[in-house]
Parts: sequence; structure tokens; C-alpha cells
Amino acid sequence: MNVLRLYNTLSGKKEDFKPIDPAHVRVYACGPTVYGRIHVGNARPIVVFDVLVRLLRLRHAKVTYVRNITDVDDKINLRAAERGISINDLCEETIKTFHNDTARLGSFDPDIEPRATHHIDEMQAMITTLIEKGHAYEADGHVLFQVSSMDTYGALSQRSMDDMIAGARVEVAPYKREAADFILWKPSNDDQPGWDSPWGRGRPGWHIECSAMAKAYLGEVFDIHAGGLDLIFPHHENEIAQSCCAHDSKHMAHYWLHNGFVTMNDEKMSKSLGNIISVTDASNKYRGETLRAALLSAHYRAPLDLSHNAMRDARNGLDRLYRAVGEFAAVPDRVDEEFAACLLDDLNTPAALARLHELAGLANKGKAGACEALKSSAAVLGLLQQTANEWARTDETVTKDDIDDTAIDVLIMARKQARANRDFAKADEIRDQLDKADIILEDNVDGTTWRRR
Ligand SMILES: [Zn+2]
Repeated sequence: MNVLRLYNTLSGKKEDFKPIDPAHVRVYACGPTVYGRIHVGNARPIVVFDVLVRLLRLRHAKVTYVRNITDVDDKINLRAAERGISINDLCEETIKTFHNDTARLGSFDPDIEPRATHHIDEMQAMITTLIEKGHAYEADGHVLFQVSSMDTYGALSQRSMDDMIAGARVEVAPYKREAADFILWKPSNDDQPGWDSPWGRGRPGWHIECSAMAKAYLGEVFDIHAGGLDLIFPHHENEIAQSCCAHDSKHMAHYWLHNGFVTMNDEKMSKSLGNIISVTDASNKYRGETLRAALLSAHYRAPLDLSHNAMRDARNGLDRLYRAVGEFAAVPDRVDEEFAACLLDDLNTPAALARLHELAGLANKGKAGACEALKSSAAVLGLLQQTANEWARTDETVTKDDIDDTAIDVLIMARKQARANRDFAKADEIRDQLDKADIILEDNVDGTTWRRR
């Protein structure tokens, strides 16, 4: 098998993947802050890095995949207050929804899913070390990381200190020595969640959570750290600063992987545009597997537009692949080499999906082993794990927005009536209208049947 190559944000190029211990590969991905449902943009790293881990498991005896849950954050406090429920109830409810969503997306659970609030001691220990080593200071109940204490700060996002000072908000908190310094610990008032600490009752900053949890489960230096593009700065930059300075190490992780953004019909998802689609809503409308296939249809570093057409294409692609596997249920250990080569090249999932379609073509022609190779390869993408019948039975109303079944039947009746009246122009008009909605009519001796394109 070829070597795995991954684009490393740290070096800005594709590199051969060389694990620290080839018998045990260690991966960390930033998980959700649990104040509300995840949207389809958040679903992308979940699916993409699930594929990465499945690929690593094909090649290495042991892989430990850690994805955290951030259950202490001011957004959580705010949302709980808005809804008039306890912080704990909000977190438990959101975690449950999150797990439902990841299951619908066909993603495996990470090996370890640590919660920030269960690791406050480790965070405090790391903060204490940073203060002792002269990288952090206490001021006014806060503890801050002093960015100027680290020569290589900014290496991941390739920002200079001047950029960062210019980029920092104009209003600098009075307890900060320098504008770019960031919070490791902050004081809590009586209504806010807080823990006793050497710096008074307070709570951790977001960045220190990931540094402490990654160290607890993966050690001081590990192989791959993954997350969305928006996390490079400041979150990942600050994780590196904390971990490298606390451990006197050159690296926190050797490879930093970042997935691109998701747009909806070519628009950035945003609250003001009202086009944020939650995974729960999307998977009520589309099958989870359709959403998964759509999320893998573009290269993970490229922007992905989840238009209605992209979803329809993903569904049609799966329809075709399922027709080729039919009722074949076993998942043999027969990953196709050409397919694997696509994924080994920095997770080129669009090329890998195209290879699945080639295998489906070969399976349709009855080529020996093609069906097994198709099913086995698709499993690495987390696809085609049902039989064709099971897939067909699951309900999907992908074009419901455009036209529903009743409306189609009504139009077909109207067309029949028009033809009976010899009003062929009207009949053709109805056919065209349905065609535009991707409904194909088939006239036969028993009447007219229809199917979606
Ligand atoms: Zn993180």
C-alpha cells in the first residue's frame, strides 16, 4: 500500500505521515461546545476525521481517537439562562442530541470523549506549570498566558506579533500586560460555574481545556490534531503555546489538519441570513447517509456547498451504488487498492467516491470480486453499510420542498384529463412542469407512473 500523505497546516504542504509509534497512532479533534444543536458545517469535521481514523485503523494496530466535549463556556451559561434551565440540564440534553446526530451521520464514537468539567485538576496543574516557567501571570483573579514569552508563537497561523497586536481588539482589558495575551483562568461570580483554585474561585479558558485533555489521554506530544479552519487562530495557536511551553516541547502534535467551510447554496451559513441548518433538521429531511455522502463529495480542505442539488446528487449516487451491492450484506476485508490510493493522498474523498462508482460499474457487469471490493471500500467512508432493500425502505423526502407525492398525483390526473380533452399543449405543459421538479413520467398501457430523477 502507498504511504499516507497529509496536508500539514504547520508546514503548509503535503507530507508523508510518519507516526511517533507506528503501533499506536494518536489523534485529537476539537469537539463541540454543548449549548445547542450542531449544524451541517460542524458535521463536516466529524465525518471527515471519522474517515481519517477508519483509514488509519486499516494500517496501524492501534489508533486512539480523542474528541472532547466543552461543557463549560459562557455561551452555555447564557443559553441556559435564556431558556430558564440549569446548565447541567442544557449540557446533558445537548450531548444527547449530539450523539444522536453523530450516529445519524454514520460516524463511530471516538475512543475517548472527555468532558472539560471532569479535567479541571489537570487544567489547574498545567496553568501552575506555566506560571512557574514564566509563561503565564496572575492579575486581578485572572491568569493570562504571556504571548511574548514564546519565540515561536504564531507559527501555525503564520502571524507575526505585529499582526496580532494590530488584530487585537482596541479595548484591552486592564489586567492584560499585552493585548495578545489570552486567558487561562478567569474568576466566576456566584451565579457562574466555578471551581476553587490557587487564583480564587473561577473557571478555565477554552484553550487550556484542549491542551489538558489532549495531554491526559495522548501524552505531551502526539501525532495528529484536527479541527475546522476557523480554529487555527486563536484556538489551535493557543493550544500549541500552552502545551509546548508547559512541556518544553517543540510540538504539541506533529500534523495539524483543518477542514474547509460549508456554505448553503453558495452563501456562508450565518445567523443573520437565517440559513443555518442543524444536523437534526437536515437528517429529518434527508437520510443521514445522504448527508454523509454529500459532506464527503468535496475534498475536505476545499469549501463545500451543500445545495439542494448537492444533496440530490449524493442521494442519486448512493442509489446507484446500492443497486450494485444489492442484498450483499457481508463487509469483507477487501479494500480496493485504487480506492485506498485516493484516500491515502490527503483524504481525496471525491476521487475515492468516483472509484466506488467504477467498482459499481464492474459489479453490474458481473466482474468477480467487484461487489466485495465495493462494499469493503465503501466501509472506509462509512457508506453502503445496509443492503439495497434496507436503503430503499428508509424514508427520504429529499424533494419535498419542491413538490410532494400528492401534488404529483394531482398533476398527473390533470394531464390525463387534458389528454382526454385532446388539449395536448396543456398536457405537455404539465409534463414540463414536473420535469423541472425532477419528476420523470412514464406512460405505459396501465397508465402513467412516475419516478424522481
Ligand atoms: Zn480544541
